[in-house]
Amino acid sequence: TQQFVWPLAQFGQIVNNYQRARASTDRVYAVLEAEPSVAEANDPVSLLSVAGRVEYDDVTFSYDPDGDDTPVLRGVSFDAAPGDTVGIVGPTGSGKSTLVKLLVRLYDPDGGAVRVDGHDVREVSLADLRDAVGYVAQEPFLFYGTVRENIAYGTFDADDDAIEAAARRAAAHEFITNLPDGYDTMVGERGVKLSGGQRQRVALARTFLKEPDVLVLDEATSHVDTETEAIIQRSLREMASDRTTVAIAHRLSTVRDADTILVLEGGRVVERGTHEDLLAEDGLYANLWRVQAGDFEALPESFFDAAIA
Ligand code: ADP
Repeated sequence: TQQFVWPLAQFGQIVNNYQRARASTDRVYAVLEAEPSVAEANDPVSLLSVAGRVEYDDVTFSYDPDGDDTPVLRGVSFDAAPGDTVGIVGPTGSGKSTLVKLLVRLYDPDGGAVRVDGHDVREVSLADLRDAVGYVAQEPFLFYGTVRENIAYGTFDADDDAIEAAARRAAAHEFITNLPDGYDTMVGERGVKLSGGQRQRVALARTFLKEPDVLVLDEATSHVDTETEAIIQRSLREMASDRTTVAIAHRLSTVRDADTILVLEGGRVVERGTHEDLLAEDGLYANLWRVQAGDFEALPESFFDAAIA
């Protein structure tokens, strides 16, 4: 459908590349958004204006639903009101990344439902969903094109000033201007090789430019140094302040101010509440917090990877 194609229409270059590759729009999304295994609903619901309520209702998920393994997510429920920030923490492998991937429909749940503004995301037009929900993955994908095109992807009418402003908010402007052709440097496959932290910042700039209704962050600053992280965190806090945000954090301090923090363990939400609630509860979160504050005595062996990840 036309709606589904629009993000590409503004970049002759990209359209040409993909025409050359004779890729369908589905394949373009497969490349850009990584591994979607989901189908558009027959009669998809349009998301016109998005308030940003996000609900997980008894969500269960396995990568191999026919296998014998324990599901990766088990009975996950939470409800984020429009504008809320939900922090997700927990040991490595507890299901954090999987949880947010269901919100952008990289996968669909085996049981239960994920809803945006009351609509099951499986019923929503994929184009509208991807328009509404900005997702910064742990290993963000850049396509073969200029830095400018990579930042502008998904945004109508992006002018150079807006692109540069977004790059500054992502602490990316400086390294971009130091690339051989600045914003016109070709990156991605066959382009100039960027570091993980640089790729992450280009993907963040894309999201800052897009100003999505719902923001999903998967450890968005895991590859950058402390100083750069501070700049990005400030911009992220600003952006999160007036939209629903679901943020995975390995450093607990980044979600300290969240309206709700969910603590995942083995695919279940084992604790939930504000930072203060969870410290008072004196459970897993309180333990992780003490560890990250430097009290390694507090560390149960099994949480070591999570604490230092
Ligand atoms: P976290 O983000 O908390 O580290 P993940 O959601 O990445 O946890 O992973 C949860 C579990 O799902 C882990 O056991 C992991 O090995 C498994 N897993 C993650 N991605 C895949 C995949 N694409 N295919 C199969 N198993 C996966």
